[in-house]
Amino acid sequence: MGYFLNALTVVKHLISVRRFCRASPEQIKSHQLKKLKELARYAYARVPFYREKWDRAGVGLDDIETLEDLKKLPVITKEDLRLFCPDSLKTNKYSEDKGRVLRTTGSTGNSACIRWDAQKCLAELAAMSYSAVGLYAGLPLKKHGMAVFVTVDDAVESLAFWAFPRQAKERVISVFEPVDKQIAMLNRIKPSYLISYPSALRNMAAVVQNTGQSIHQPKLILTTGECVDSLTRKALQSVFHGEVRDVYGATEAGVAAFECSQGKGLHVLSFKAVVEVIDDNGRAAPPGETGHVVVTDLLNKAMPMIRYKGLGDLCSFSVERCSCQLSHFPLLNQVEGRTIDALVMPDKRIVHPYQLTLAMQDLFVVKKFQIQQKAINDFRVLIVKDNSPEAQTLTMCDAIQERFKNILGPEAQIEIQTVSDIPPRKGSHKHAAVMSWVQA
Ligand SMILES: [Zn+2]
Repeated sequence: MGYFLNALTVVKHLISVRRFCRASPEQIKSHQLKKLKELARYAYARVPFYREKWDRAGVGLDDIETLEDLKKLPVITKEDLRLFCPDSLKTNKYSEDKGRVLRTTGSTGNSACIRWDAQKCLAELAAMSYSAVGLYAGLPLKKHGMAVFVTVDDAVESLAFWAFPRQAKERVISVFEPVDKQIAMLNRIKPSYLISYPSALRNMAAVVQNTGQSIHQPKLILTTGECVDSLTRKALQSVFHGEVRDVYGATEAGVAAFECSQGKGLHVLSFKAVVEVIDDNGRAAPPGETGHVVVTDLLNKAMPMIRYKGLGDLCSFSVERCSCQLSHFPLLNQVEGRTIDALVMPDKRIVHPYQLTLAMQDLFVVKKFQIQQKAINDFRVLIVKDNSPEAQTLTMCDAIQERFKNILGPEAQIEIQTVSDIPPRKGSHKHAAVMSWVQA
């Protein structure tokens, strides 16, 4: 699609975002049900993976009458994606050239591959355009934002380069560029909001603080992709005066929730995604009780995500109420999810951890990994392989050594260990993709 067609489609989606931001909870629910029925019919007819899974579970399309009935469908996991993707989850109608094949990047410590159709891509761009963000935040924005993101081709963060390459070049900078260059861009284009990963924003804030330079102050600082803890928030607020808001999303589903402006949690953008919280037995967790996040993406037909549990995040629905502009959307408490450390080099340079995690993402037999920095120039990579025959014979050590030395320098000592599992980080339910014991 060309620029004008893309722009028109984004505007069309933006109009519906505006409508839903002002709709009643009943109107949103009836929209959800309509979309859900449509998606279920589509997935059953066109995606063998779902048809087989639902047939085995004894659930038919006639069983989906209300939103509650979504719970009758079996959940799908990241392992399902890894084993079947992208061939049996993808639908016949959407060939590659009509959309994007995306890979999860960055902080997850295991990778998956997802296909989005062109409509889904453009709807996501609309959902995070400056006008939409201004509506969610209750702060009218009159100007474009700026993003510091992973900009590799198959990252969800690179969608803008696919749809609007010229504009993207002016407003998106790679997280791997030197922090000075990121700050220079911020000062040059003076965006209304700045969006990036907490790990990258923390680096920017540290450089600003150390050098004492003055910077352009965006109205909003948006964090995404990793958990933003209270320490990080404080560090950001000591440098950025704009309000800090968290955006919860994932490559598998797109943007799913936006932080409440009264600080009560995250509002599910339920016109585009259904979020459930379930306990270990698969039952709905009552409000206030923590469980697993299960997401259904109402927009993507190229590879439908229906009851996807693979994000691996823990959360609960809030028992609180708020009166912010998103109060008609369900309210989640803070999501407990991904955390990630930066790496410190001998010359005190900070390497953004995604540089290393991206170097692991095409190693398909790797089920899980963790990169550890034990001391300056001393690294260990833990790998959990899957059970495929390829995994038993394939040696990835040389490839990993070479890629890591390209990033970390020839002096780096890199030990690679195959293990049976990687334990979660202390105080969390998830393992960290990158851990460093070196103080920045
Ligand atoms: Zn709110």
